Amino acid sequence: MNDHLMDIVRNPTRPVRIGSISIGAEFPIAVQSMTATRTQDIDATVRQIDDLVNAGADVVRVAIDSQKDAEALMEIRRQVKANLSVDLQENYRLAEVIAPHVDKIRYNPGHLYHHEREKPWQEKVGYLVRIAADNDCAIRIGVNCGSVDPDAKSRFDESDSISPMLESAWEHCRLLDDLGFYRYCVSLKDSDPRKVIEVNRRFAEERPDVALHLGVTEAGMPPDGIIKTRIAFEQLISRGIGDTIRVSLTVPNNRKHEEITAGRTILDDIASGRVRSVVDYGLKTLNIISCPSCSRVENEAFVELAEQVREMTRYAEQYRITIAVMGCRVNGPGETDDADLGLWCGPTHVNLKRGPESLGAWPYDQILTKLRSELDALIAKQQPVASAPGAPPVQ
Ligand code: SF4
Repeated sequence: MNDHLMDIVRNPTRPVRIGSISIGAEFPIAVQSMTATRTQDIDATVRQIDDLVNAGADVVRVAIDSQKDAEALMEIRRQVKANLSVDLQENYRLAEVIAPHVDKIRYNPGHLYHHEREKPWQEKVGYLVRIAADNDCAIRIGVNCGSVDPDAKSRFDESDSISPMLESAWEHCRLLDDLGFYRYCVSLKDSDPRKVIEVNRRFAEERPDVALHLGVTEAGMPPDGIIKTRIAFEQLISRGIGDTIRVSLTVPNNRKHEEITAGRTILDDIASGRVRSVVDYGLKTLNIISCPSCSRVENEAFVELAEQVREMTRYAEQYRITIAVMGCRVNGPGETDDADLGLWCGPTHVNLKRGPESLGAWPYDQILTKLRSELDALIAKQQPVASAPGAPPVQ
């Protein structure tokens, strides 16, 4: 549909090398996934890792929770070429066994709290940092809404689930920095995409230098799981936040590669302005967004209409106006609320909105004329960006 690329300025994060790839800085946003097989089922896990790599996975994470899991992962390492991340679940001391065989160690500050409680968490993190540094591994500080460090939780009101996550992530970052270890990224995951957006935005405001791994936990089955994740990624990546992503989907083991294809599709769509929530790309000029379309589209004319809207509105390029074109009545009515002008397509008519206000519905061959008059009315109330005081002249 749209083949122009949005100009997204990424946050100036530090580079983090994970095996043969790097994330952060100017590196492309990496796509990763996690195995869902039993780690001790070596054949099945190798098969799944190969499947993910063939689908384009940059990093694959494998969980271990026992010495036997760690031994299985050592054998898996011998059989696959993937960049491997190990997920240390409750048993963080397995790090010393597995670190020589993987490229990245993920620990959860909440889980770390519960293991060997008599030890200060700083000592446990110090141990992990030493192991990572000695074995050429990156680290991910993986904060999860369902398992936040109880100490961080106790410092905030029960109704505030975001601040404890941030506090936990920030204090771990400070410790890693103090220890002189910078090869790390952070994740802040929740099952609610709105919370994922807020927590990552607030984190990045304070620490724009730290690479972020984005994800929505327990997103569910496709297509809903993909849609939920897409909303969070659209809002964050369009504003330069996010260096690696994972789309978590509930799918059978032989379809796990769909996490990677979904992730790559979402990244391509965001880069091209094909979004299903109203995204502010931070543009000071006209912002035309259209949904990526899916099986819910009821009239194929939607695709052509989105192109026609882009062509017809070129004359308004110097105005800061957002126009959203959505393909269906399921998400169109709600998702266009934040646009200055919104269109959502039904089987025979296209609905037009000004902000949250509905203006009516017109046949496909009449909607452009109506849109044009609404756009003219908006323009009449604005100064073009290029002629605003201090702005460069239009070429
Ligand atoms: S057709 Fe509807 S559900 Fe599908 S991507 Fe577009 S707005 Fe979303």
